[in-house]
Amino acid sequence: MVNIGILGLQGAIEEHEAAIANTAHKKGIAINVKRLILPQDLIDIDGIIMPGGESTAMILIGERNGMLSAVREKIKQGMPVFGTCAGAILLSQKVRRNADSPVREGAFPFLDIEILRNGYGRQVDSFTIDLTIKGQDKHFKGVFIRAPVISHIGDEIEVLAEVRNTPVFIRYKQIFATTFHPELTDDSLIHELFLESLIA
Ligand code: GLN
Repeated sequence: MVNIGILGLQGAIEEHEAAIANTAHKKGIAINVKRLILPQDLIDIDGIIMPGGESTAMILIGERNGMLSAVREKIKQGMPVFGTCAGAILLSQKVRRNADSPVREGAFPFLDIEILRNGYGRQVDSFTIDLTIKGQDKHFKGVFIRAPVISHIGDEIEVLAEVRNTPVFIRYKQIFATTFHPELTDDSLIHELFLESLIA
C-alpha cells in the first residue's frame, strides 16, 4: 500500500485526490490518499503532492500550524514530492513576485531554480498548449492558470517538458514539479510518472 498525501492547506486539493486515485486504479496500484493539514498527518506518508492555488495563502496557513517546517524536514530526509504550479513555487530556491521584485526563498527550497510568479502575464492569465514530454510519444495537454515561469535552472535539474524554451516540467532526484495543472485533464501520464517513481 502506497500512502499519498495531498498538501491540504489551500488550492486544488480535491482535483489531485481524484487524479491520483484514478491513476492508481488504472495502474492497479493500491494507494491510500490522505489530506495533509497538520504535522501529525505526515506519519506513514510515502509521497506528497503539492497542489496549485495561491502560494502566499499556503505559506500563511502552513507557517501558523507548523506544517511548513514539518514538510521541509520530511523532504530533507528524502520524501518524494510532486509540486504543481503554486506547489512548484513553494519548492523553488528563488522566487520573484515580478521581474523587479527582490528574490525570496520558497517555503521548501529544494529545487535549484528561479521562478517568477504569474510570469506569463495578465493578458495570458490562462492557456492550454500541447506539450512534448521527454521519453513519451503522445502529447500532453498542459493547462496553465496564472502560471509561474521558471526563469533559471541549475545544472542538476532535468527538464522533462518546455514551452518556448522555458522548462514547465522538471525533476530533481525525488522531486517533480510542473508549472501547469495535470490534475485538470483526463490524461493521467504525469501522475503515473510520479506514482511509478514511488514504487520503483
Ligand atoms: N499565481 C499563483 C501563485 O503565485 C499560482 C497559480 C496556480 O497555482 N494556479 O501562487
